[in-house]
Order: sequence, then structure tokens, then C-alpha cells
Amino acid sequence: IDHIAQALEKKETAFSFEILPPLKGQNIDTIFSNIDPLMEFKPPFIDVTYHREEYIYKERPDGLLEKKVVRKRPGTVGICAAIQNRYSVDAVPHVLCGGFTKEDTENFLIDMDFLGIENVMALRGDAVKSETYFKPNKNGNMYAQDLVEQIMDLNDGKYLDEDLLNSSKTDFCVGVAGYPEKHLEAPSLESDIHFLKKKLEAGACYVVTQMFFDNQKYFDFVDKCRAAGITKPIIPGLKPLSTRKQLNMIPQRFSVDVPDALVMEVVKSKDAAAVRQVGIEWCIQQSKELKEAGVPVLHYYSMGKSDNIRQIAAGVF
Ligand code: FAD
Repeated sequence: IDHIAQALEKKETAFSFEILPPLKGQNIDTIFSNIDPLMEFKPPFIDVTYHREEYIYKERPDGLLEKKVVRKRPGTVGICAAIQNRYSVDAVPHVLCGGFTKEDTENFLIDMDFLGIENVMALRGDAVKSETYFKPNKNGNMYAQDLVEQIMDLNDGKYLDEDLLNSSKTDFCVGVAGYPEKHLEAPSLESDIHFLKKKLEAGACYVVTQMFFDNQKYFDFVDKCRAAGITKPIIPGLKPLSTRKQLNMIPQRFSVDVPDALVMEVVKSKDAAAVRQVGIEWCIQQSKELKEAGVPVLHYYSMGKSDNIRQIAAGVF
């Protein structure tokens, strides 16, 4: 188990991917059966997303509504440990500001350290559905940058309780998110890149981008980041479009454009299988061009089902 920083120094473009914990009630075998077919492409690391609580309203027998807090996809850290154990590759848990106090975060990181997990993605998280804007927990981190700083403090042996004697140092390598089409709350791409740079200066060692469907957006973003003085690796994140519904859902939820040519191909497709194939082929073309441009890693968002990612990897690697 290495640091991702080392994997990023290799000359060849590597293949990696992100998975979601299964819905609560499902077995971890649902994860393994999706990962197994991808292992022949030798990913140096596998990301596992984190899902915070959601607030849902349930009707009670008396007809009144009851507000319930549910976490539909727990298990991020346990899955990471299981992945490292089974496949001997780095697993990268995502860690959020939202829903955590700084003490929760510290304890979460200690769990990871004890399990031999040395890479994390530090993210702010989105606003919960009942809120318009992201609100941190009382005593929680506000921005991903603050979270990166907390992780770096632990790497220096600085815990929240400064009186701890002989504090052990952790050795986390931290990734952060970047947005070629800017984060939806950022007033401009320039200001978003300004804050991305701060996250890296705080100690993060690489960037993974939000999905994009037009490579030019990625190339322009990388140029702007380099011009702004960002020197760390910027890993492109790719998601193959897989359903017709995503034509509306993806721009709305992730604030990214779907190019007209791709929209037209999807609209022309006769059935769900044809749509999925269009998404696969588009993603293969994107991947080939990015690989040619020499990106360090092609990182795929698998959304829990890996058959399309397998087809793409087979066409590219
Ligand atoms: P930040 O870097 O904190 O930025 C948030 C906003 O604040 C931006 O507009 C930024 O420009 C601005 N900003 C940043 N720092 C400052 C500052 N110091 N002062 C003022 N403004 C500032 N979500 C999940 O819930 N679980 C996941 O597992 C997950 N994985 C992801 C993986 C990737 C690769 C990506 C791209 C996103 C992921 N997300 C995940 C979504 C992410 O949590 C949201 O996009 C969230 O809204 C922003 O997170 P961030 O870490 O980029 O935030």
C-alpha cells in the first residue's frame, strides 16, 4: 500500500475508479462483484464515497408527518479496509466537513490510521436537502481547506486536545476536488481556482475533477490552474452517461454541460441499452484523447455498476 502521490509519478496513464457504498441492507459482495471485473486494469487506488444523513418525512399511522434522519449508504471506512485487505490496493475514503464536528473528524481519521488507510479525499459536502446553503456543524469544518488543515495537523502529531502526550503522527496523503466548469456556488471560475490553490497550499497533494463531457473544458481548466501557479497533478474524473434521465439530472445536480452532439445521440437512441452504449462510446473517445495528452490517471465514476466502466477500460487500456 503506497501513497497516491507515488502512483502519480509513473509515466503511463493509470486506470482508477470510484464506488459508492451499497444501500443499507445490502451485502458487501455487491461491491466485490463490481470491483472484481475491473481489477485486471490494475488500478493503483479505488475511491469510496461518503454519504451524509438525509432528512425524510414519513407518514405516521395517525396521518401526521414525522421527520426522520437516515443514512442510506453507511460503511465507507469499513469498505475501504475490506478493499485493501482483499485486493492489496490503496482505498481512498472520502471525508466530508458536513455532518462532522472536528472531534468526529479526528476520531474518523484515527480509525482510518489504525486500519492502514493512508489516503483520503477531503471534501466539504453539499447542503442537505432541507437547506439552501451548506451549513457546517457547530464545531465543524466550513471549507474543504479547513479539513485539509486538520488532517495536516494530525500528520504533524497535533490533535485537538493539545495536552495529549507522545502523540502519534499520521501520514495521510490528501486529494481535493476541482471543477473545470466551476463549483455551482463559486461566483467565477477564477475565484474557484483561487480557493483550489489554497486547498493545495494547505497540504493536499492532488486534485480530482468533477465529471465533464467536453475535454476542452478540462484542458482549459488545467491551463488556468497552471497559470494561477497550481503545480500538483489534476486527475480527470469521467462519468459515462448511462440513462436518458441523466440528460436533465447531471446538469442540474452537478452543474456541468452535456454537449449538443451527445444529447442528440442519446435522443436518437431507441432503448435503454442503446443509450448506455452511446455513453460508453463517448467516454472511450474522451478517455483516448486525455490519455494521449498524458494525464496521470483516468478516474471513472462507477455509480455502483461497473459493466460500462469495464467496457470503457477494455477500449482504452
Ligand atoms: P470547497 O473546496 O470547500 O469549496 C466549496 C465552495 O466554497 C466553492 O464554491 C469554493 O470556490 C468556495 N470556497 C472554498 N474555500 C473557500 C474559502 N476559504 N472562502 C470562501 N469560499 C471558499 N460529496 C459527498 O457528499 N460525498 C462524496 O463522497 C463526494 N465526493 C466527491 C468527489 C469529487 C471528485 C468531487 C468533484 C465532488 C465530490 N462530492 C462529494 C461533492 C462535493 O462535496 C460538493 O461538490 C461540495 O459542494 C463542494 O465540495 P468541495 O470540497 O469542492 O468544497
